Amino acid sequence: MNSYVSRVLDGLNKTYPWEKEFLQAAKEVLESLSLVMAREKKYEKHRILERITEPERLISFKVVWVDDKGEVQINRGYRIQFNSAIGPYKGGLRFHPSVNQGILKFLGFEQIFKNSLTGLPMGGAKGGSNFDPKGKSDNEVQRFCQSFMTELFRHIGPDTDVPAGDIGVGGREIGFLEGQYKRLAISNGCVLTGKGLNWGGSLIRPEATGYGSTYFAEEMLKTRKDGFKGKTVLVSGSGNVAQYTIEKVTQLGGKVVSASDSNGTIIDKDGIDAEKLNYIMELKNVHRGRISEYAKKFKKADYIEGKKPWGLVKAEVAFPSATQNEINGDDAKALVKNGCICVSEGANMPSTPEAVDVFLANKVLYGPGKAANAGGVATSGLEMSQNSMRLRWEKDEVDSRLHQIMINIHKAAAEAAEEYGTPGNYVNGANIAGFKKVADAMIDLGL
Ligand code: NDP
Repeated sequence: MNSYVSRVLDGLNKTYPWEKEFLQAAKEVLESLSLVMAREKKYEKHRILERITEPERLISFKVVWVDDKGEVQINRGYRIQFNSAIGPYKGGLRFHPSVNQGILKFLGFEQIFKNSLTGLPMGGAKGGSNFDPKGKSDNEVQRFCQSFMTELFRHIGPDTDVPAGDIGVGGREIGFLEGQYKRLAISNGCVLTGKGLNWGGSLIRPEATGYGSTYFAEEMLKTRKDGFKGKTVLVSGSGNVAQYTIEKVTQLGGKVVSASDSNGTIIDKDGIDAEKLNYIMELKNVHRGRISEYAKKFKKADYIEGKKPWGLVKAEVAFPSATQNEINGDDAKALVKNGCICVSEGANMPSTPEAVDVFLANKVLYGPGKAANAGGVATSGLEMSQNSMRLRWEKDEVDSRLHQIMINIHKAAAEAAEEYGTPGNYVNGANIAGFKKVADAMIDLGL
């Protein structure tokens, strides 16, 4: 490891020992950048690594609301405005009980490089709350979202910081948040992305992350003159990203045999076709039910309580699309043993460092989240463009722009990996290509 990189990592470890997910993400990115630091001294001279690992602004606030029993509830809210060198802050909001500052710093840090890779002018940010929408009524979610936005609205705006959804923040939450923003900011300016089609949303935005990670996998497979036809595919999660991954993989000729949630996994060896996917969408998006119900409806499927999909059946391609660190070293070995040749990350940092080592050592085509799932934020960027122009593009136009962006990201990552002597290593390629654009902008902009 380059000495400048190891000095910066030591400093972060001493300063933020409790932020383990952030330290994991920083280590992964900075290790790749060793190759750049050894070649180009200007980044060390300008102390870019120390500057890029420190958020520009970290906002933390209380969110007080009243539940349906009339009892007062208190949650913690955050917005981490990490880096705005190449454009307004952009990144999702996550509502999940596990949310804390370290997790949001990891997500905001990754977002800097991901947004840069899209080729669109967007800085990196992330936010959210330890609020759990699961089991809450629509009225409770509405009261929480309104209270959350009552503080957040003063820190965001269409030209400064444009949040979006993430785990636990879908169309319903974005609606309540946008409604409160409009009320408070006395503005009709669209401040969030992922909006409903009737109030400023973009066609293909709900599909974008899942479609995008499938397009990225398709590009990786093409490098070996291969494709989805006849492949068995594992998908984890059953939320937004998982649902549209299943849809696109199936359209491209693959057979998806799994879906999961935090309680367990269903395996359907016949494949999750369009009709079964409709059932999952209704189950999850309308009834907010559990994936176990799938096996009650489709009797040939099995439900395995407490298990993740990895290694349960033979499969050539895997799309982790639930959450961070959901594939550990043993899971990765099980995937490889079962014939997996391609992993495309719909989720953010779903593979532990040990799992990544297993994939790279076994020449698995491995697309890290910051490249593979960048289609979501890219299409959010397209939503912002449509809002600014006050017009709406047709579905095919947005989809073809998304597809082209994913092809470009794959190309940029592959070329950077090649240029720095690690061909086929998309981890290095994505980190380097994403970093250089932001770092050069930081130098141009001065201190
Ligand atoms: P959703 O809330 O729609 O779905 C999340 C899914 O993951 C659910 O099935 C959920 O199950 C499962 N899950 C969440 N936490 C855990 C856990 N700790 N263990 C096991 N399963 C879990 O979120 P998204 O689909 O939007 O996001 C999924 C991932 O994709 C996240 O990592 C997110 O950061 C990433 N991502 C999302 C983008 C987007 O556009 N939405 C863009 C880029 C990345 P349960 O219902 O039981 O909680």
